[in-house]
Amino acid sequence: MTAVHDVVVLGAGLSGLHAAHLLRSRGARVRVLEARDRVGGRTWSRTIGRARFDVGGQWIGPGQRRMHALVGRLGIPTFEQHVDGAKVLLLGDRRSVYRSDIPSLGLRDLATMPVLLGALDVARRLGGDPRLAPGPATRRLHALSLATVADRMNPRVRGVFDAALRTIFGAEAGDLSLADFLAYLDAGEGLLSLAEARGGAQQTRFVDGAQTVSERLAEGLDVRLDAPVHEVRRAGEVFEVVTPGEVVRGAQVVSALPPNLLAKVAFTPALPPPLRAHLEAYAMGRTTKVLLTYERAAWRDRGLSGELVSDGLVSIVMDATSADLTQPALVGFVVGANADRLAAMPESAREAAVRAPLERAFGDAAAHPTSVTMLPWKDEPYTGGCPVACLPAGAPLLDRALEVPGLHFAGTEFAREYRGYMEGALEAAERAAAGVGVSA
Ligand code: FAD
Repeated sequence: MTAVHDVVVLGAGLSGLHAAHLLRSRGARVRVLEARDRVGGRTWSRTIGRARFDVGGQWIGPGQRRMHALVGRLGIPTFEQHVDGAKVLLLGDRRSVYRSDIPSLGLRDLATMPVLLGALDVARRLGGDPRLAPGPATRRLHALSLATVADRMNPRVRGVFDAALRTIFGAEAGDLSLADFLAYLDAGEGLLSLAEARGGAQQTRFVDGAQTVSERLAEGLDVRLDAPVHEVRRAGEVFEVVTPGEVVRGAQVVSALPPNLLAKVAFTPALPPPLRAHLEAYAMGRTTKVLLTYERAAWRDRGLSGELVSDGLVSIVMDATSADLTQPALVGFVVGANADRLAAMPESAREAAVRAPLERAFGDAAAHPTSVTMLPWKDEPYTGGCPVACLPAGAPLLDRALEVPGLHFAGTEFAREYRGYMEGALEAAERAAAGVGVSA
């Protein structure tokens, strides 16, 4: 008979590893099971050219206190996102340059933009999380998609709104429940804060990539790689967690899988049908992250920050140059319908399609990348899209908190603060670990 662990954790992303760490520090015997051959999940740092770059999660913001505390404790070096210089806005055929935090539009557009964003930021406080005992007002908002609001915007405001939305959610307005959108903003301090670099969610980067946080957390933990969990079954007092290589026994289980993938795990006895229906309803964003390296950050020489906001194929571009400046780079996001469009192109045409808007924005400075790396996250079987899974309009909700005896839910989608972000992964892990009754 194999040993019984106090806790078996599913998934060695940031959330699973943080939960495992917290539980182990309380004296629990913890085994972490990870499907991939690496830890870090949606954070993934790869050497490209002369530096290690993030092809997954990349930035943290000043309000993300758990992440700042953790990287401080682990001694992981960070640096500030480069924002100096003018930014470029491409809307339709028009190219304009701006210096404010959000793109400046024409006078009439400018008048509507803050009103609109301000209204959304007020509404977020009224909406409430549709997943936490929603009242009738929240249920009514949940029946509508965000497109009901977005479709009333004028085309230029809509272009900027969509670019922000696509980058934050990996989704189109029609993909998102209005109530879930507002709850998401509320969990993350509002749309403007999530969209901005300086003072916002894109302020700080990791010198050696964000995956280093997971790599450091995994040191000294009992993590099994290449161990995809496909079944969790009750066997008397314990759970049996089934992977192709072994059956791991644990008194309790913490799932740190995104809901779309947790829904694919077979449970015996079966999960309550409303919970399964709720998990199955989450739709992962569709983002292809693109990293282009260069010999020179020539856009900086021309007084440009490297930031581009566009209603075209590439929604947002930012400077991604390495901390020591030895490897100039730009990072861009191709999202939603645009990601589908890119995927449908012949492979030989994709690089030129992605480069074209960058050349329009930055001229020759962006014309000759030394490498172009594209990662369509929907093709990653153990993520299924990115950056986050959200609820579409009318998706089945839960009437009560998630309660399955002995099973605890971590993972950024279950966060109440900074859902969808690395910070949310930590917050959800802390709540899941607190719910596990392990005595030291
Ligand atoms: P995950 O990282 O998804 O971890 C889940 C783990 O479970 C994975 O390791 C997976 O392999 C594993 N797994 C899946 N199925 C199974 C199974 N059946 N059995 C065992 N293991 C399984 N966040 C930010 O804060 N800032 C950003 O700038 C940012 N940008 C992003 C850009 C991109 C391109 C992406 C992909 C994400 C981005 N995010 C960003 C989101 C951030 O990366 C995530 O919120 C965070 O990493 C989620 O951590 P997690 O542990 O909850 O989930």
